[in-house]
Amino acid sequence: MRDLIVSISGVRGIFGRALNPEVAVRYGAAFGFMVKNGTVVVGRDSRVSGQALKYAVISGLMSVGCDVVDIGITPTPTIQIMTKELKAAGGIEITASHNPAMWNGLKFMSPEGLFIEGDVVEELKHLADTGTWNYPGYKNIGCLKENTSAIDTHINKVFGIPYIDTGKIIKRKFKVVVDPVNGAGAVIMPELLKRLGCEVILINGEPDGRFAHEPEPLPENLKDLSAEVVKRGADMGIAVDPDADRCAVIDEQGNPIGEENTLAIAVKLVLSRKKGRVTANISTTMAIDDIAGEFGCEVIRTKVGEINVASEMKKNKSVIGGEGNGGVILPDVHLGRDAPVASALILQYLADSGKSLSENMKQMPSYVMLKSKKTVFGFEPGDVLSEMKKIFNAENIDEMDGLKIIREKSWVQVRASNTEPIIRIYSEARSRGEAAELQNEISDKIKDFIRAKR
Ligand code: MG
Repeated sequence: MRDLIVSISGVRGIFGRALNPEVAVRYGAAFGFMVKNGTVVVGRDSRVSGQALKYAVISGLMSVGCDVVDIGITPTPTIQIMTKELKAAGGIEITASHNPAMWNGLKFMSPEGLFIEGDVVEELKHLADTGTWNYPGYKNIGCLKENTSAIDTHINKVFGIPYIDTGKIIKRKFKVVVDPVNGAGAVIMPELLKRLGCEVILINGEPDGRFAHEPEPLPENLKDLSAEVVKRGADMGIAVDPDADRCAVIDEQGNPIGEENTLAIAVKLVLSRKKGRVTANISTTMAIDDIAGEFGCEVIRTKVGEINVASEMKKNKSVIGGEGNGGVILPDVHLGRDAPVASALILQYLADSGKSLSENMKQMPSYVMLKSKKTVFGFEPGDVLSEMKKIFNAENIDEMDGLKIIREKSWVQVRASNTEPIIRIYSEARSRGEAAELQNEISDKIKDFIRAKR
């Protein structure tokens, strides 16, 4: 199982290399053993390798005595909702999230529908690697059921959000172009939007896993969507990643508003209805702090990773939270990133304002965030990071996740990747120039360090 990436986001690998049906059987059986042969909900995104892996996972689960509920092609948030709804012992979504088509993976859910915690992932990995479970024999084998109500259940949960006035949204008759990149979002997004009274124009809407473009919903991958929004005179464009937990939005002029602003708008809408704590990961835009400040609400920051944000939200009873990469978490529905939820909140925001999305964006705090990565061949990223900590020690720093240097209305964060010998640099400021300067400042310091050591 070399090159298989196992982290708090689950298991990920390139299909046919690190990840194959044998690995999936072992992880299925190990997870089934861990949940003491309870019922497990299984779903998948639309990847070409998804079906082969699904039956392997199901085989592993049934062999150790688990009953399995197959909910078909469904987004990750749908698995989370159904695991809780069906009072199952756990859930498994077969997906590699925003990774390219050759990848696949497994995301594991607790009975509450949350990602399993880091120490449980470690335990699962150990079990899958060493294989110390018992097959209980033919008399105790689990059974397989299908459930076709998952998408409907998910949509009904969205309709039940207390901050949403569906009548008001329906009245606006929004025209929306949707790009689910031929992923699992194709089975929920058009249906949800139609039920919200939208005229839906669907591009890349076949859930066949043949991604029409790089599947991460970043502006550079959404040019067709932008063009279609302008051509059709739509109110907005919505893009989701292949497992529909991340959501990015295009305004009516074809301009991407930026993934960070998906959460910013959702926070603004929810706090306008109900004041309370907001939780976001440490790399998320400062716009969240400004918006929460306007409502007199507190922002709590966590390490990057959905489960880190979700468990903190549970602890501090946040009213909303998420990650700046377009991942909105609304506890009224469930504690997981959810693109259908994000879309509904944004439509409500538009319906409330009566203005266009670009007009609304003028009222939002305006920051520019730049994200880059640096290869440091021959050096441990951790060593580079230690050096950076020494250099910036006198400043206002946060060491929760790598090193974040916080200045007046700007910040720059340096993190070591766990899986590649690279350093990630994120910076945010009032202007592109200032954000770029912060990037350069860190890059130069890293270069100096490497030069001095060589
Ligand atoms: Mg995803």
